Amino acid sequence: MGKKDKEIRDITDLPGIGPNSAQKLIENGYTSIEAIAVATPHELSQVTGIPLPTAQKIIQAAREALEIRFKTAKELKMERMNVRKITTGSKALDELLGGGIETRTITEFFGEFGSGKTQVCHQLSVNVQLPEDQGGLEAKAVYIDTEGTFRWERIEQMAKGVGLDPDTVMENIYWIRAINSHHQMAIVDQLFDMLKRENIKLVVVDSVTSHFRAEFPGRENLAMRQQLLNRHLHQLGRLAEIYNVAVVITNQVMARPNVFYGDPTTAVGGHVMYHAPGVRIQLKKSRGNKRIARVVDAPHLPEGEAVFAVTEWGIRDAE
Ligand code: ADP
Ligand code: MG
Repeated sequence: MGKKDKEIRDITDLPGIGPNSAQKLIENGYTSIEAIAVATPHELSQVTGIPLPTAQKIIQAAREALEIRFKTAKELKMERMNVRKITTGSKALDELLGGGIETRTITEFFGEFGSGKTQVCHQLSVNVQLPEDQGGLEAKAVYIDTEGTFRWERIEQMAKGVGLDPDTVMENIYWIRAINSHHQMAIVDQLFDMLKRENIKLVVVDSVTSHFRAEFPGRENLAMRQQLLNRHLHQLGRLAEIYNVAVVITNQVMARPNVFYGDPTTAVGGHVMYHAPGVRIQLKKSRGNKRIARVVDAPHLPEGEAVFAVTEWGIRDAE
């Protein structure tokens, strides 16, 4: 069987990549076909030392490899049937989401500071561990913390709130602090291995954008920032699809996002979701402990709002 007929699954299957180039690519974080397909020739050449024309060929091959993988409608149906759901702790919010947070999907919670994004992430890390008849998947969670706002104390409290053993719940959450955007992306690459071995059904990135914003401020860095963020989201989407896990990301935006019109990070979901469908939920503060959730551009969900509460025991329906 010639190389052309062989299915391209791995970067070493790409035509024109010898062992040396493959090694260089992997060492520099280009561990997947997707990562290469979304790279620019300049970037690839600069990072790996591969000559520009070769880099161009490699990227072209990676793009072709991605595009020729058709799926049948039947396959899509089977994939949908594998989608599972995790309860948020609030019936109203679950209903808004069509039954809870979905696996195989990136769900983005965006909103201003204090709108409850991190609370929702904590709650989901607990709830994914619940038995299925209580809205969980009896599985573990990964929590990528970029802002240092993860609190085990809060997990303990929420575990008690749903009647699970707090120590067991805390042992089933793998926490890591991402120190910069590069680290954040490397962690996600690492997860492709980890998810093979572990029964993990939720991956949280809280927040997905903060490092990228801090490291690439202003208009002049917009293109670079967006390119890296795209690649990161793309990897997360792939993770969601390959392992049928729920990926939950947060994104802090100002109360009036129109102030940032044209800032692509205010629209992290949407068109950049390549493999996995994205769901975007806007969270807003309301009176007291109440929060309002609104679904934004989700073709399969009805438009609407849900009110929930952040209580001592976690996310609940509002009184
Ligand atoms: P962000 O959207 O910035 O991530 P958070 O998810 O951190 O916001 O939400 C913070 C809010 O959650 C606090 O202002 C408070 O209202 C609520 N909260 C946090 N911890 C508790 C708790 N132990 N008991 C009740 N409410 C809490
Ligand atoms: Mg937060």
